[in-house]
Amino acid sequence: MADQHIHYQSVRQMSDALHANEISAAELADAHFKRIADLDGRVGSYLAVTPDLGHEQAASAQSAIDSGNAGPLTGVPMQLKDNMATRGVTTTCASLMLEHFVPPYDATVTSALANAGAVLLGKGNMDEFAMGSSTETSAYKPTRNPWDLDRVPGGSSGGPAASVAGGLAPYSLGSDTGGSIRQPASFCGIVGLKPTYGLVSRYGLIAFASSLDQIGPLTRTVEDAALVMNAIAGPDVNDSTSISRPAIDYTIGLKDGVKGLRIGVVPEYFGEGIDPEVARLTREAIKQLEELGAEVSEVSLPNSKAALAVYYVLSPSECSANLARYDGVKYGFSTPDAPNMMAALEATRDGGFGIEVKRRIMMGTYALSSGYYDAYYKKAQQVRTLIRREFDAAFEKVDVLITPTTPTTAFKLGEIQDPVVMHANDVCTVPANIAGIPGISIPCGTIDGLPVGLQLLGAHLSEATLLRAAYAYEQATPWHTQHPAN
Ligand code: GLN
Repeated sequence: MADQHIHYQSVRQMSDALHANEISAAELADAHFKRIADLDGRVGSYLAVTPDLGHEQAASAQSAIDSGNAGPLTGVPMQLKDNMATRGVTTTCASLMLEHFVPPYDATVTSALANAGAVLLGKGNMDEFAMGSSTETSAYKPTRNPWDLDRVPGGSSGGPAASVAGGLAPYSLGSDTGGSIRQPASFCGIVGLKPTYGLVSRYGLIAFASSLDQIGPLTRTVEDAALVMNAIAGPDVNDSTSISRPAIDYTIGLKDGVKGLRIGVVPEYFGEGIDPEVARLTREAIKQLEELGAEVSEVSLPNSKAALAVYYVLSPSECSANLARYDGVKYGFSTPDAPNMMAALEATRDGGFGIEVKRRIMMGTYALSSGYYDAYYKKAQQVRTLIRREFDAAFEKVDVLITPTTPTTAFKLGEIQDPVVMHANDVCTVPANIAGIPGISIPCGTIDGLPVGLQLLGAHLSEATLLRAAYAYEQATPWHTQHPAN
């Protein structure tokens, strides 16, 4: 493994090199800590770096490798988005509210990866409480897109996406409530998978909107996404919404190709607001899949148009309930000098939350308040059912739906000030969260040197099919071999 290329190797390649004793787990960890020290001042993808824990984990990974007890993730470094609990390591959710919060326990995904031999490099920057599409709402710093440092990496998992795209982590975990894995994966030219709701445990994921939140991998290759899924998917007694289905091996069948796979093209996802160049590259990718043996037909999903409105009623409503726990008593930030309880509560929430989080709490509280509940929250739930049924019907006819992941390529930092315009970025990604179905974004080309993402959606628990289709496309195209200049 040539040293200058080490940072852009896939998880699989790093794993093979570790097993062949071409590199040690400590050397691999050191190479990453050095790269973080060299570059992250400019990229800003980490909120905390964990060399002590990382070296400790690298040492035990090395013993596992030496004694022949290693799996494919053993000794491979990784990052976690900073809304996943890490025992003894600050977990801030990029909010002042949790600036000094050190969880006394690990999220299920944290311990699952630790048990698989992973080496934690640190915690990834994000939009505050995962609310945003650019990582600019982080209370600490923005993250920059490694393809162009003047541009955003997307959000809310912008730190994870930038780390993986820039060679600052071999893989990372993100969370996706309305697109927060897939949209940054698209902006950064990498692979991002949002699994079926309930497939990966949310225990220890700091809640934003509990009926929509889902954890998934950000990786540089499709095979790596399958490897990470093998470690994190599966039932969990600590998450009552986790699906009780035995874990499966997502690498099986990965290379079986797309011959006979039925692909649906949804005209509603190519309309207004979608950059014509993004639409063109998406159609080109569909043609390529057709050449590889897939059968393409058109499938209309008219209710998808309502998904964004439904999302921006339901997710703030759930957020207003979830974030009620930040009262200055139980967690993090509090204001000690207030004269009474109400004043303390007000000052804590005013000082601890940023503007976007406050906006969401207010929208959600409004939608849930008596007199408005029926008109907003209940109506949104009803439309949610319609959207879910429409997807169910579509997946009777096709195996996979293909759409653009995002309307445009990465925009400049500070370019979008209007929250409504920012929210419109999620138009292609939120329907999957509303329906609870899986979605993956993979790179499908560039426009003016900036990556474009292709989104594949499938029925509940069709991750293996999505990965197989994504793999076939990836192997037939050069996009996954391209990296930012550094
Ligand atoms: N951008 C969306 C929002 O701001 C999605 C966020 C997410 O998926 N966590 O709510």
